[in-house]
Amino acid sequence: MRGAYGGPRVLLRRLREVMAEPVTAQDKLDRIVVLIAANMVAEVCSTYVLRVDGELELYATEGLNPEAVHQTTMARGEGLVGLVAGAGEPLNISDAQAHPAYSYKPETGEEIFHSFLGVPILRAGNTLGVLVVQNKAHRTYSEEEVEALQTTAMVLAEMIASGELSAIARPGAEPAVRRPIQAKGVPLAEGIGLGIAVLHEPRTVAVENLIAQDVTKEATRLDEAVEKLRVLLDEMLSGDNVAPQGEHRDVLEAFRMFAHDRGWVRRMREAVLQGLTAEAAVERVQSDTRARMLRATDTYIRERLHDLDDLANRLLRILTGRDHGPAEEMPNNAILVARSMAPAALLDYDRTKLRGLIIEEAGPTSHVSIVARAIGIATVAQITNIASMVEPGDALIVDGGTGDVHVRPPEDVQKNYADKVRLRARRQAQYQKLRDLPAVTKDGTAISLMMNGGLLVDLPYVEETGAAGIGLFRTELQFMVSPTLPRAGEQEALYRSVLDSAGEKPVIFRTLDIGGDKVLPYLRKIEEENPALGWRAIRFGLDRPGILRSQVRALARAASGRTLRMMFPMVATCSEFDEAREIVERELTHLRKWGHELPQTLMLGAMLEVPALLFELDELFDRVDFVSIGSNDLIQFMYAADRGNSRVSDRFDPLGPSMVRVFKKIVDKAIEKDKPVTVCGELASNLIGALVLIGLGYRSLSVSPAAIGPLKAMIRKTKLADVQSAVADLLRNDDDQARQRFIDLASVADAS
Ligand code: PEP
Ligand code: MG
Repeated sequence: MRGAYGGPRVLLRRLREVMAEPVTAQDKLDRIVVLIAANMVAEVCSTYVLRVDGELELYATEGLNPEAVHQTTMARGEGLVGLVAGAGEPLNISDAQAHPAYSYKPETGEEIFHSFLGVPILRAGNTLGVLVVQNKAHRTYSEEEVEALQTTAMVLAEMIASGELSAIARPGAEPAVRRPIQAKGVPLAEGIGLGIAVLHEPRTVAVENLIAQDVTKEATRLDEAVEKLRVLLDEMLSGDNVAPQGEHRDVLEAFRMFAHDRGWVRRMREAVLQGLTAEAAVERVQSDTRARMLRATDTYIRERLHDLDDLANRLLRILTGRDHGPAEEMPNNAILVARSMAPAALLDYDRTKLRGLIIEEAGPTSHVSIVARAIGIATVAQITNIASMVEPGDALIVDGGTGDVHVRPPEDVQKNYADKVRLRARRQAQYQKLRDLPAVTKDGTAISLMMNGGLLVDLPYVEETGAAGIGLFRTELQFMVSPTLPRAGEQEALYRSVLDSAGEKPVIFRTLDIGGDKVLPYLRKIEEENPALGWRAIRFGLDRPGILRSQVRALARAASGRTLRMMFPMVATCSEFDEAREIVERELTHLRKWGHELPQTLMLGAMLEVPALLFELDELFDRVDFVSIGSNDLIQFMYAADRGNSRVSDRFDPLGPSMVRVFKKIVDKAIEKDKPVTVCGELASNLIGALVLIGLGYRSLSVSPAAIGPLKAMIRKTKLADVQSAVADLLRNDDDQARQRFIDLASVADAS
């Protein structure tokens, strides 16, 4: 840096003065380019802003022809300016015209300038524009000059992000940071959410904190914060909450490594010495790192980006004194935006204010999406970089049915969705009216509609939906959202609340279904080639009976004097059921011996999810009190198609001939043996799926709470005889005709 005007510190101080002046955005920009040019002894300084249409527009210049301002534009990727924007990295060359990407714009009069330094104007790794200095002489700018210009670009980034420039933009050509974005992700939880963006991990740097008043003080603040961060990580790693091995520890170890990385700390210190506040220095370095890492093709590097982001956020929180966790002031129609989120963190938010969730990293079977479905908020996942593109306070729409997300949507899109929400609310009100009416077909056959659940937050739905009971209580959810293994007392308390709130209605508890995709953070993760076929559910329970035994004891104590219904997941052979029953009986004997009052009645069932059991149906029904079909797993294993892998999960028809025959075989056997059978997988929540099952003879379905209203409305308008004849078509393989008949039958629910 040539220090003629005092270097970047002085420049930043002057910029702060300009930013505070009550002048128009254009005046500010004009003064900023003059200041930068003077400070860097450059003949030219220009600011290009990325527009919604992807063009880079010259917004201000010192040194080029002033007539070119708001006239000259470049496509992204065109010319040197486009190159800088596209790469997100500085370009420093002594002979601009000799560069193959050089694009001549005669109106600017730039042909007399040879050397060129362009830096991207970055915010959270996204390019908002390009800042350029040029000189007549052939020269290469020093590393310090490049750094100084990057730091200055940060001030411009804040100015663009604040939306100030929209006032001087032509309609349709506004700065890209405010542009509407439409993206498609993976739908995880049904519903439509319209609301205001709330960032789960807010970016905490505010414009007024950007420029240091006292550099020495800022350097000390930074050093102290880094030290505090290191101590914090050491404490976390030596504490009891982190398992000795596993992902959590790996991530923390990586954090600790970064926190001691000299390069990282040095770069932040340099930024402070240039005149930024400690917070701004953290953000500045992180933004550069993001820009570089986002363009990396190596997935390992891209994954590490999140670790680094998390670490920078922790440091920012130390510096700003803002604690991690839900924002203090939540709007009443909040849409949460997160890169990733622990299921328990979602439960920390006020559910009545949440309208939607957009999350970069989550799959359909991930824990956070299970919780999102349980609390009924529209959720979409897997939209790359969405957490960086959204600003707090932006208008957002989340469509959990289609996976569509709209950021800053235009008015017509907003209106369209508002209509959809109203329509849904009207339907919901109609379903509400059916709440206390039975689910009976027009020709008088009753269907028991129960609901699936697994968390305390699910319990009010029994009452709200008028469900006939809880047909599947997934006990593993309590284990999945808890940071440590839930104690026996905690388990018992949950089970007791469930039974209390269900009152006279039946509840079927499923014993722990962990393993496979359901990983507990505090249990050592076993590496398995095929986790879905691995050491999970009842297999784990039988091999490690300690956990199963204490769960059985907790269930029995919670149900003392009442009926206890319990079933085992993933039973593959009748002998597994026998073994599990023996464990239960031993525990009951033990409790009796110690004088505990036992459940008045015990009913033990098996989940039918493994195809092998289809060939032991006689023996199975002779042993159990009831059977519940886990259609999600049964379909996955029948077709050998991973339910969590979107490439294959929709490949096969869940109502294809082989599946329909399987469902028929099971229900026929249940009728013959006079034992209850329920279907509790997602298929039963689907209108057409439910119709086919009813037509086959099923009289009990356990579905998601949101499906109860639509299913009941449909059942009450349907004649069983019609469904049975459509099923007969289906069984005769008269596929197309049967399909159309089911679509027609199901459509009566929508018409209600
Ligand atoms: C199923 O497999 O259909 C089921 C209900 O169990 P889960 O989805 O919890 O595996
Ligand atoms: Mg299952």
